[in-house]
Amino acid sequence: MGGTFDPIHHGHLVAASEVQSTFDLDEVIFVPTGRPYQKDAQEVTDAEHRYLMTVIATASNPRFRVSRVDIDRPGPTYTIDTLRDLTASLGEDTEMFFITGADALAQILTWKNVDELFSLAHFVGVSRPGHELRSEGLPVDRLSLAQIPALAISSTDCRQRVMDGAPVWYLVPDGVVQYIAKHDLYRSDNG
Ligand code: ATP
Ligand code: MG
Repeated sequence: MGGTFDPIHHGHLVAASEVQSTFDLDEVIFVPTGRPYQKDAQEVTDAEHRYLMTVIATASNPRFRVSRVDIDRPGPTYTIDTLRDLTASLGEDTEMFFITGADALAQILTWKNVDELFSLAHFVGVSRPGHELRSEGLPVDRLSLAQIPALAISSTDCRQRVMDGAPVWYLVPDGVVQYIAKHDLYRSDNG
């Protein structure tokens, strides 16, 4: 499951947990992006902070782990490189699934090397409040759609809440609330 995870929140974690269970996956690997090419570099928090928050949020689940492939690769992040690197490290025999929310799924045809993307992984599109979950135009044999418990949480909203002094308790894991406070993230005066 790729994401900016700026910060990771319970919407991400429920999506990962549901898909792990439904597809009986050995593990879910969270892959924080390096520099997401769709998002302005200035607006994205330092990769090490995003990586560590992802580690904190997932550490207690034996089926969750976090990969540094995207944050350690120089240049903008493309999912095709993520899947190629993971295939190289996990071995060709590993069956890969790529978990994505309905909003990201709707953009997928614009992603780099889209045909190879679908050859490297089976995609799982999950429902997300405010976004229609559709498979139109996508290869149906390489895509599954999954309805998951609806959590209307976004990282954008979490960042805005911190900026406004509103709580993010129960939207993100406790350790992430504390990490944000400790490092003074998402306050307007430090960008
Ligand atoms: P931002 O507002 O910064 O874009 P985000 O909440 O969309 O953050 P991302 O890191 O962009 O989080 O998303 C990573 C993946 O998780 C994407 O595939 C996205 O669709 C999915 N996702 C994020 N939030 C949810 C949610 N509440 N329910 C289901 N899927 C989600
Ligand atoms: Mg997003």
